[in-house]
Amino acid sequence: MDQIVPINTGAHDTVVVAGGGGFIGGWLVRHLLESGFRRVRAVDVKPLHEWFQCLPEAENVVADLRDLSNCRRACRNASHVFNLAADMGGMGFIENHKAECMLSVLINTHMLMAAREARVARYFFSSSACVYAADKQTSAQVTPLREKDAYPASPEDGYGWEKLFSERMCRHFSEDFGLVTRVARYHNVYGPLGTYDGGREKAPAALCRKVVEAKVSGRHDIEIWGDGEQTRSFMYIDDCLKGTLMIVEHDIGEPINLGSSRLVTINQLVDIIERIAGIKLRRRYNLAAPKGVRGRNSDNTLIRRYLGWEPSVRLEEGLEKTYRWIFDQVAGQPRRRAVY
Ligand code: NAD
Repeated sequence: MDQIVPINTGAHDTVVVAGGGGFIGGWLVRHLLESGFRRVRAVDVKPLHEWFQCLPEAENVVADLRDLSNCRRACRNASHVFNLAADMGGMGFIENHKAECMLSVLINTHMLMAAREARVARYFFSSSACVYAADKQTSAQVTPLREKDAYPASPEDGYGWEKLFSERMCRHFSEDFGLVTRVARYHNVYGPLGTYDGGREKAPAALCRKVVEAKVSGRHDIEIWGDGEQTRSFMYIDDCLKGTLMIVEHDIGEPINLGSSRLVTINQLVDIIERIAGIKLRRRYNLAAPKGVRGRNSDNTLIRRYLGWEPSVRLEEGLEKTYRWIFDQVAGQPRRRAVY
């Protein structure tokens, strides 16, 4: 990432990244360390060897953050807390694991309680575009979602309800207890060093993996979930990190969209990945597979106005880096912890 966004901490303060073994959390830890932060504590429930990035300069802690006592330990001496920990995945996971997704409410609840006790200066919560009401996402040519479209509430069942509830918990900890909370609604984040197989992967990584598998195996076809005409927008990890750090330091008290506003169909996403791979595949459409809403896009009016933030990485460029990394994982030259 080229531009460094500083956050204001004292020399002895600790920055906590909950979910530091995951995709976005791993990149955030790396970015903070590269920006000069000396006390970065990464916390994740996964064993260390499963972390996408496990950096020796950070304090790496394996702990289940559904547990309040672990949250208290995680927040000790912290000035900033980034809560990115959640039991989550792509549509294939969240449509079939609603209870597990909702249990993440324990993570945010206990992290808020611990952050308040530790008197942290800033608390960040990673919410999701899945909070938006389903009836506003029924067309592929969807009107971009404004922050106020989350109400009247009708979010994605399970995962989206947990995010919406946790957003409000942040708001009330702020209003009632004076904890400074910041909430971003991420819209589809992608990049290297994230989940690309196993059932939790999201569309860009899943499609990159399927294209790699087709190329390597010589079986030149691909299964696409739905009819391929459903639409989404996709944000590269560097833009996500930059926006996250800007939101944390700004005085935006309400949840705000953080995503790209370039709408593409899943078929167009496959077109781009095929061009990167130099291959053309027969497409099989699985209409019974989980597909999510018909269309979803981010209205970026507020974030442009408040922060002047716009995504800077083109989808073609970000997918190229993502495809190359997934190719290495699948085709046998894994560089799991490599720097990109
Ligand atoms: P990820 O699954 O790679 O990272 C989440 C991490 O949280 C995982 O490493 C997981 O092990 C950890 N975790 C889960 N339960 C935990 C627990 N009980 N205690 C401690 N750690 C626990 O996902 P990600 O893509 O990096 O997403 C980060 C955050 O951003 C999540 O809150 C997610 O809901 C949100 N988000 C992501 C996207 C996206 O497109 N990636 C979109 C919207 C919102």
